[in-house]
Amino acid sequence: MYFISTRGRERVTAAQAIVQGLSVDGGLFVPETFPSVSKEELEAMLTMSYAERATEVLHKYLDEYDKAGLLAACEKAYAKFEDGDPAPLVKLDDGVYMLELFHGPTCAFKDMALTLLPYLLRTGCDIVGIKEQILILVATSGDTGKAALEGFKDAEGIKIMVFYPDDGVSKMQKLQMCTQEGSNVNVVAVKGNFDDCQTTVKKIFNSEECKAKLLAKNTRLSSANSINFGRLAPQIAYYFSAYLDLVSAGQIEIGEEVNFTVPTGNFGNILAAYYAKRMGLPVGKLVCASNKNNVLTDFIRKGEYKTEGRPFYKTMSPSMDILISSNLERFLFELSGRDASLTAERMKSLTEKGTYSISDEELKAMKEQFFAGFSSEDDTVECIYDIFSEIGYPMDTHTGVAMNVAREYFEKENEDKRNMVVVSTASPYKFPQDVLYALTGNDVKDSFKGVKRINALTAMKIPESLANLRDKTVRFKTSVAVSKAFDEIMKFIG
Ligand SMILES: *Cc1c(COP(=O)(O)O)cnc(C)c1O
Repeated sequence: MYFISTRGRERVTAAQAIVQGLSVDGGLFVPETFPSVSKEELEAMLTMSYAERATEVLHKYLDEYDKAGLLAACEKAYAKFEDGDPAPLVKLDDGVYMLELFHGPTCAFKDMALTLLPYLLRTGCDIVGIKEQILILVATSGDTGKAALEGFKDAEGIKIMVFYPDDGVSKMQKLQMCTQEGSNVNVVAVKGNFDDCQTTVKKIFNSEECKAKLLAKNTRLSSANSINFGRLAPQIAYYFSAYLDLVSAGQIEIGEEVNFTVPTGNFGNILAAYYAKRMGLPVGKLVCASNKNNVLTDFIRKGEYKTEGRPFYKTMSPSMDILISSNLERFLFELSGRDASLTAERMKSLTEKGTYSISDEELKAMKEQFFAGFSSEDDTVECIYDIFSEIGYPMDTHTGVAMNVAREYFEKENEDKRNMVVVSTASPYKFPQDVLYALTGNDVKDSFKGVKRINALTAMKIPESLANLRDKTVRFKTSVAVSKAFDEIMKFIG
């Protein structure tokens, strides 16, 4: 399978796409065609384990990777999840399910891909024949950074460096990153918000000068952000798995369509659902849930993407505090009928003018696939409270945003009787102060006190990785201006 750039100037193999991360023309790699999964194949996957299902899906795209090797890597990656099942489906109500993706080492859904990416990258380097050391650069709004650090720590021939916005992540997220162990890791705060962080990292990726300086130190850049197809591919698998679990549990007939609600930031998670649909999974509506930073809601409703003049809000769902959703470019490429020059033009307009628009036909086609909504801070708090008091199910703040928008969907589209799966992206213990506030109205100053109180209230098990955090040593304290980010990289490389 080959991969092409959304901006038209490159065609590479899967291994190359993963090793490179971003195309040289600034575009994102997408599969040349969507592989399909037949009904027979879907049926055969019913009795498989999660790792086996993931291997089936991954190998469709990464056909130059050895399938047995992929399976071994998936088994190893998903053995790191607590309680055996990496993606359990929990029934909340008739026709409403929660897909819990937070049982991995860092308690957020990023683990679903980042436990596997080191294998995909290491093997990709071997396939392509790359001899230099790899430096993974990550811009994070909190969860990617930790999951990438954990995934790549002590990986052979790879170094990893994470940039996070100085005060744009939760205390727990910051502590998770700054106490990271491993001999090949570095974590640096930059002054600014996540978009500043992401733009800085993207600039370094696109700078010939930076790349030459690194190459002189025998180092090549790669990305663990969701612009890398190696991040996206493992995410497609859990949509298949959730669907198969519904069939196995007798909740739907095979072939029946299911809707998904996804709490969205960079559009990576929900794009994976769209890819699953394009592969033939019976998916109905994709509900795109945003927080107060509702640039995607406006885009999906009106067809105009506009960051110009839009304030950036810091919310209690920080991993969704994003105005420039990078992965939307992949969907735009499909929406335009795979018109690379039009996609490039739109991205240029976004960079230069802070806006672009799509045609009426495109808007109509998009609305057939997607429903969009957003949740204010108050509504998210209320939704978390409601679901806990009605059903006894505690949710994190990102999932609260999703659930609230799913409720809006049920109200507005009450003719739609298809089953709904809401994607739960983080453990409530990862955002303990805000979750405790939502559940009880009480404020606590200390995250760990929040953890204790949530535990007393919900009896939900505290993930070991968060319980241990308090006793860990803070290793990383550096904070720099965005203009100094590259200097920090050079210092790290030595
Ligand atoms: C990253 C993240 C999101 C947003 O996912 P995207 O793929 O960026 O849309 C939502 N919730 C949590 C907890 C996350 O870590």
